[in-house]
Amino acid sequence: MLDILHRVTREVNAAPGLSQALRIIVERVADSMSVDVCSVYLRDSVQGDFVLMHTRGLNPEAVGRVRLATAEGLVGLVAEREEPINLENAPAHSRFRYFPETGEERYSSFLGVPVIHYRRVLGVLVVQQVEQRRFEENEVAFLVTLAAQLAGAIAHARASGGIDGLDAGTPAAGRTLRGLPGAPGVAMGTAVVSYTQADLNAIPDRASADVETEVAAFEAAVERVRNELEALREQIADSVTPDEQALFDVYLRMLDGDSLVRETIERIREGNWAPGALRRVICEHVQVFEDMDDPYLRERASDIRDLGRRILARLRDEGERVREVPDQAVLVGHEVSASQLAEIPRESLVAVVAATGSRNSHVSILARAFGIPAVMGVDDLRTRELEGRPTVVDGYSGRFYVDPSPTVEQEYQRLLDDEAEFAKGLETVRDKPSVSPDGRPIALYANTGLISDINLSLAAGCDGIGLHRTEFPFLIRDRFPGEEDQVALYRQVLEQFNPRPVVLRTLDVGGDKSLPYFPIVEENPFLGWRGIRLTLDHPEIFLTQLRAMLRADVGLNNLQILLPMVSRLEEISDVRRLVARAREELAEDGIETRTPPLGVMIEVPATIYQIDRYCDQADFLSLGSNDLTQYLLAVDRNNSRVAGLYDELHPAVLAALREVVWAARRHGKRLTVCGGMAGDPAGAILLMGLGVEGLSMSVSSLLRIKWVVRRVPVSRAAELVNRAIEMDSPDEVRRMLRRTLEEYELGGLIRAGK
Ligand code: PEP
Ligand code: MG
Repeated sequence: MLDILHRVTREVNAAPGLSQALRIIVERVADSMSVDVCSVYLRDSVQGDFVLMHTRGLNPEAVGRVRLATAEGLVGLVAEREEPINLENAPAHSRFRYFPETGEERYSSFLGVPVIHYRRVLGVLVVQQVEQRRFEENEVAFLVTLAAQLAGAIAHARASGGIDGLDAGTPAAGRTLRGLPGAPGVAMGTAVVSYTQADLNAIPDRASADVETEVAAFEAAVERVRNELEALREQIADSVTPDEQALFDVYLRMLDGDSLVRETIERIREGNWAPGALRRVICEHVQVFEDMDDPYLRERASDIRDLGRRILARLRDEGERVREVPDQAVLVGHEVSASQLAEIPRESLVAVVAATGSRNSHVSILARAFGIPAVMGVDDLRTRELEGRPTVVDGYSGRFYVDPSPTVEQEYQRLLDDEAEFAKGLETVRDKPSVSPDGRPIALYANTGLISDINLSLAAGCDGIGLHRTEFPFLIRDRFPGEEDQVALYRQVLEQFNPRPVVLRTLDVGGDKSLPYFPIVEENPFLGWRGIRLTLDHPEIFLTQLRAMLRADVGLNNLQILLPMVSRLEEISDVRRLVARAREELAEDGIETRTPPLGVMIEVPATIYQIDRYCDQADFLSLGSNDLTQYLLAVDRNNSRVAGLYDELHPAVLAALREVVWAARRHGKRLTVCGGMAGDPAGAILLMGLGVEGLSMSVSSLLRIKWVVRRVPVSRAAELVNRAIEMDSPDEVRRMLRRTLEEYELGGLIRAGK
C-alpha cells in the first residue's frame, strides 16, 4: 500500500499538467482498489461548483459537463462535511443526484473523500461499485491518505492555469506563490532560472537560437562522456570484479543504444535547447524505470540520472554559453547560491527568488546588501517552467507572482511609484534628530553584517551599530577565519563608527545557519547546538573570536560584546571567564585591552522568567524579537507552511516584551530591540509605546523609522500598545496600527501582505 502511495505521488508530481495528473490518479486508484469507477471532481474557483474532471467507469462524455453546486449531490455533501462518505446504497440517499449523461444509476456503493489543501476543499475523489457493499476501513484509509498526499500537487497543477473546462471565463491570471520574506522591497522583472550542474530537474526549457549548434554541442558532450567512461572502466579494471566493471558497460550501452541520444536530438530539433531537451528525455526514461515492479530495474533509474548529469556537465563546459540576461532580471532557482547571484550583472538584477533558504541564507543577506527584494522558501516553484516569464516579487510579504494579471501589475507599479516618492520624502529627515513629537529621544542603531552595510549606515546617520552579526565571514569561507583576519574586520567597523558604540555579537551559527566546513546535522536545529551553546563548547574557536574583538578595540574603546541564544545564567559567567582569560593571554603578549560591556540577547523565552537575574548579571540587554517570536509561538521562522502563524505583533509576544522593558527600567539597564520588529513601522510604534529607547534595524529601514519616530508621540504609542496587549489576535493589532499609520499620514509605509 505504501509503495503504491509513493509511486502515485511521485508520478503525479512529475506530471506535466493537471489533466495528466488527474488521469494518473484515476487510473491508479481504479487499478489498485479494483473498483468499477474512479472519478475526480474539482471545485471551480469562480462559481464554486464541482466539475467532473476525470473518470474511469463513467461516461467520458460527461467530463467537464457534469457540474454540481456546492450544496448538491453526494459530492457536495463530502465537500460540505469535509470528511469521507461511505455508502452501501448511494441512489437511496436523499442527497443522491442523478445525471443521465454519466450512466451512474448502475453503481450502488459510493465512497467520496475530500481533497483539502490548507483548509480549502479543492475537490472530491470518488470511487463507486456496482456491487452493494460498504467500503472497508482500509480502503477508506487508503483513499484519505492518497487525497491528503495529492492535495499539494493538485493545488499546484491547478494554479498553473490552462485547465480544460474549469475556471472558464476567468482571465488567464498567473500563479501566486508564497514564500518567506528574504529581503524587503518590490520588483518586477523577467525570470532567469539558475541551476547547478548537479540539479538536472531544475534545468529550464528554453528556445534554442540555432538548432544545428545545439545538436553539435550535444553530440560533442556525449562523445566526451563516452571517452570518460571508457577511461574510467580501464582505470578501475584492476581493482574491481568483472561484475562491477560491467556497470560501466551498462552506461556505455545506454549511450550507444540510440534511444537516449536520438530522442534528445529529436527534442532539440523540435526547438528546445540541448540541456532542456536532455532533461526531458532523462526524466522520461527515469520515470519508466521507477515504475517498474522489479526492484533491481527500478534502481537503474539512478544510473540514467547519473548519466544525464554527466552529459549535462559536459554540455555546460562545451559552450559556457553566454547568457542573455534581460534588463530587469529576477534570478529564480531551487537553491540560489551567492556566486550564482554574482554571475548576473549587478545593474540587471532586480530580485531573487528561491525554493529553499530563508532570510538568513547568503543570498538573502546579499540581496539586502544590494537593496533588492528576495523571497525564499517558495513551495512548488517548478523553476523549469519559469524561464523568461514576467514576474513580480514582493519581498515584504514573501509573495511571488508568475505571469501576474494586469491588476496585480498595476497594484505593484503603484507601490513602486509610491516608494520612489516616499524615498524622496525620507531624505528630508536624514539630518534631523530622532525625537518624538512629545520630546522623547529614540536612539536608532544599524544592524550590520557586511562591510558594504557600514557605508550605508554611516550615510543614514545612525547612533551606532546595535547588532553586528559576525557570522558572514564565517559563512563565506572554507574554514574558520583566523584571528588576524577577524581583527581586521572588526577593527574596520569599530573605527568607522568611533566614538559611537558598536555591538559585536559573538558567532551565532547553528539553527539554519550552518558552516559548510563544520556541518551540524540535527533533527531540530533551532532547538539545538546554536549560538553561545556551540561557541562555549569550542573554546578554541570562541577564544579566537574574543581575542580578535578585544584587539580590534585597542585605542578605540567603543566595543560592546553581545551573546546570542543565552538560556542559562551561567553562560554569562562562563563568557566573562573566557574574556578575562583572553585579556590575560593578550597581556602576556604585551597587548593591553579593556573589558568591554557584555550584553545578553533576550531571545529565548526562559530568560524572561529570570529577567531580574539577567539584569543583574549583564551590562545591557538586546531583545531579539525574531527568535523570541519563533520560540514563544513555537513557529519555525523559516518554515513557509506556518509562516502565516509567525507574527511579532501577537499580543502574547507584546506582553512578553513588556516584562523585559519593565525589568530593564527597574534595574536601570540599557535595552535595545534588534529584531526585525524594530525596523517595521507598526512594530516600532509598539516598542516606543512600551518605553524602548533604542531600536536597531537593517540599514534600509533607518530613515523610515526615524520618520515614524518624529511623527507619533510616545504617549499615543503607549495607549496603542496597552490596547494591543489586551487584544485577541495579531490581526486585530495590525488593523489598529494600520489605522494609526494612516491617521499620521504614514499610509505609504504600509506594505502589501500582512
Ligand atoms: C533575533 O533573533 O531577533 C536577532 C536579531 O538575531 P538573528 O535574526 O540574527 O537570529
Ligand atoms: Mg536571534
